[in-house]
Order: sequence, then structure tokens, then C-alpha cells
Amino acid sequence: MKYVMFSFDDGREDNYRVAYPILNKYRIRATFHVVTGLIDGSLNNGDKMFKSSSGKGMTIYQLKEMLRAGNEISSHGDLHTNSIENINASLKKIQKWKLGKKGEIGFSSPNSDINVFNYGLYKNILNNGEIAYLRTGMNVRKYGIRITLLSLIEKYYHNNYFFYLINKLNIITKLGGFLLPSVSIKCETTINQIEYLLKKMPDNTAIILLFHSILNKNDRGYGCDAWYYDSGRFDSLCNNLATDRNIKLLTISEFLQRK
Ligand SMILES: [Zn+2]
Repeated sequence: MKYVMFSFDDGREDNYRVAYPILNKYRIRATFHVVTGLIDGSLNNGDKMFKSSSGKGMTIYQLKEMLRAGNEISSHGDLHTNSIENINASLKKIQKWKLGKKGEIGFSSPNSDINVFNYGLYKNILNNGEIAYLRTGMNVRKYGIRITLLSLIEKYYHNNYFFYLINKLNIITKLGGFLLPSVSIKCETTINQIEYLLKKMPDNTAIILLFHSILNKNDRGYGCDAWYYDSGRFDSLCNNLATDRNIKLLTISEFLQRK
């Protein structure tokens, strides 16, 4: 069995409007790492910060509905930064809104600034059991020239093997770990590339697919930066993964708690 988790960063309104109905169609539950300041409006420059979006966040009411349907709501900071205060502020809001319980909320690092190299600096908050897990992306700049070159080539040629080489480091082989890497899905990532990576993954390993916006072609923000995925393409990907008997789709907290 191979485990695949869908993870969405920022809490953008299209996650509920566009992604959620598609996920529901295939009975896929996902993890949403929300910027709590985008949800309650205390972060007011969402449109500048998240270009491939409307700049608006999901509402607490929408998040509650998603939670009731078995999805996970976790933290991506209060104002999209990585300071301890910022992380704590977001955890408090999520608990206040009854979207997650103390100690069970995961954190995904904005811009993947907390990563395998520096997460020791955050041991305080981590050791207190405040965060259930730390989900990070791959910050290419910090992985040296080899990955930077591969990423550049991959970007233009959509090569399956290069995509696999870049993301090999992001396959979760040690099940039950605290630091969870993820595979960034950008607008240009093809379904073939994702399926090739899945084929190459050994049995009993896992990957987290990291999305931001899922947009329809006429949506504001479509094509504005790399951090969106076309809704038609997303629908096809969900269909393919949901019908593959060797793949189990689940939320990150379900994955960490499974027996
Ligand atoms: Zn983000």
C-alpha cells in the first residue's frame, strides 16, 4: 500500500469553492493548513501575498463544514510567518474556533523556511507538544546546485524522471516521523509526473502532495504565479488516485494515527 495525502496551504477561498466539491465527488479527505489571519481578516494583504488567488480566505463556517466531513484543519501561521509567537497565535485561534484540539494541530511552515536544516531552533514549541507534526516543503535554494539545476530543467521539459529525482527526498519512508516533507505541485506539474513518482515509490511509503489554489480558467488569479492548479486537471488527478487500489488517500493526522 502507498499512502497519499492531499495538503492545501494558506486557507484560500477557492479551496472550499473549487477543490472541496471535487474532493467530495471522489470521497477524498484532505488537510487544510490555514493562515488564521486570512480567515478572520487580520491579514489584509492576501491579494498581494497570494497572487494566484482572489486574496480572500475561507470562512470559519466553511472550515467547520469541512471538519465535520472528516477533513483536517491545521495551522500555516497567523500572518504567514514562522515566528513562535505567530505559530502560537494561530494555534490559539484554531482551538477557539473549535477546528482542532490542543496538541493535535499540525503546522506547515510558510515558504518552507523551517526545514530539515534548522528545525532544531523550534525545539521549544515542538517539545512542549504544542504541534502534532511539522510539515515542510522543499526549499530548493537550500538544497544546493544539483537540485536547483534539476528544477530548472524539469520546469521547462516536464520530464518525469527529473521530477522523480527532485522529489525522491520528499518520499516519507520513516512512517510515524515528526518532520514531514511534501511534494510541491505547481501549475505546470503534469499528472504523468505525479503518477511516475507514485510508481517509483516503494511499497509502504507515503507522500504529501502540496497544493495552494485550485482554480477554474475564468477565476481571478489564474496564471498569475505558479501556485495554482487547474480545476480540470485536479479533477482528473483525483479520479486516477481514488480508483487506484494500491493507493490509500487520507489526511495527515489520520496517517500519523493509523495502526
Ligand atoms: Zn503559504
